[in-house]
Amino acid sequence: MKDLEKILEDIKLEMSLNMSAAEYMLWVDGITPVTDNGNQIIVCAPSENARNTLEDNYAFKFLDACSASNHHYDNVIFITEEDKHLFTDDSAPVPNAADMIIEEKKKPNPFVERYTFENFVVGDSNKFAFNSAMTVAENPGVNDRFLNLNPLYIYGGVGLGKTHLLHSIGNYILKNNPSLNVIYVPTERLSNEYFASLSKYSTDKDSYRNFREKYSSADVLILDDVQFLQKKGGLQDVIFHIFNDLYNKGKQIILASDRPPKDINDIEDRLRSRFEGGLMADIWTPSLDTRVSIILKKIEKAQIDLDDDVVYFLAEKINTNIRELEGALTKVIMFCQLQGSKPTLEMAKMALKENDDPKNDGVDSKKIISAVSEYFNIPEADIVSKKKNKEIVEARMIAIYLTYDILNLPLINIGQIFGGRDHTTIIYSRDKIISAINTDGKTDRIIKDLKSILNVD
Ligand code: ADP
Ligand code: MG
Repeated sequence: MKDLEKILEDIKLEMSLNMSAAEYMLWVDGITPVTDNGNQIIVCAPSENARNTLEDNYAFKFLDACSASNHHYDNVIFITEEDKHLFTDDSAPVPNAADMIIEEKKKPNPFVERYTFENFVVGDSNKFAFNSAMTVAENPGVNDRFLNLNPLYIYGGVGLGKTHLLHSIGNYILKNNPSLNVIYVPTERLSNEYFASLSKYSTDKDSYRNFREKYSSADVLILDDVQFLQKKGGLQDVIFHIFNDLYNKGKQIILASDRPPKDINDIEDRLRSRFEGGLMADIWTPSLDTRVSIILKKIEKAQIDLDDDVVYFLAEKINTNIRELEGALTKVIMFCQLQGSKPTLEMAKMALKENDDPKNDGVDSKKIISAVSEYFNIPEADIVSKKKNKEIVEARMIAIYLTYDILNLPLINIGQIFGGRDHTTIIYSRDKIISAINTDGKTDRIIKDLKSILNVD
């Protein structure tokens, strides 16, 4: 039998390497295994709020971490304690229970719940895109001589709210016009579906037709991240045809991209001119005022009290990307919760120190573990495992010390990174290496070598 606890531990470790410590502690750390059946894993979140956040924002990361740690699941279901009996009770066969929950919780609304117009803070940088999105949501498919909103093409840099606006349109239409068939799809997923339909063609002649039909039957088609169409010849062709099918029927098409159509290289001119044929709305980086409003809105929703100086510190410091701004805010709040105090300006500065620390430019725990693994010729998995051979233990303590010294993370987080160890174990390893550096030349040499490999001081 597979040891599900161990599997989930691997997956969580993999996730921890790809997110901030605060994010990990807040959402991922508390997940526990429930069961798995075939290609699907069911895990339990500590609260309803955590469950929703995981489902909305971490499902893809979770599945990526599954494949990265060699556990192949196609689907993850996040549940809370109270639904556990559905999956563990023998009288309720697991597949049915799982279908039921998906049916109940996912089908009615494919859009992220919190991505609504109400939750979107409007400022100069995004006012035009916001109003355009709102108009389209109110009148999808309207296209007359005076107002051509088909397609609506929203573009702007990473983390500035494009996906948020697309989901807001979806949420709005689903609420006010529920009979419409609204489809949201990131271009990369569309591409995967398209190629899968082609590869299945030899055994299932309808696969491609079904794919085409699914998208051509939309009343509103929302296509995110169309810059990924670059160089994808066959896919561009299909999109061109789907686009025309929809357009001719007066259906609404909405596109988003990190750049305007003219800057997407290697797309066919006929597709580019379709993209440019409606309304183009760009979003640029928000002003200080807007950034402050965004933070205020978020802390109000989360019912967290932050002094103005902390709010301004964050808004001034993170000035290009709203996703990062949210990340920094979460980090400050988490850091203060771990320390058990209300965030002060000093605390906020400390919480974000690792971003500033010139020592750790571009280095993260993954790079440290990989450098140590290569240096000692020990697999990365062993370094974070519970194995106790002398060589492995030594390499592990060195990796722990380097993570502490270079990244300056809270000990609890370092424990998480190294296979869920207690923070006292981390202190022990750290102190052992510190004293070895002072007493034996060999350890000192190893640490210096590794730091130079990692390009830090
Ligand atoms: P993009 O798709 O442009 O890369 P996202 O839509 O994913 O960016 O936005 C990143 C994060 O920032 C999301 O969590 C989103 O809710 C938030 N965000 C972006 N713009 C705003 C805004 N104007 N008001 C509130 N939250 C915003
Ligand atoms: Mg996006």
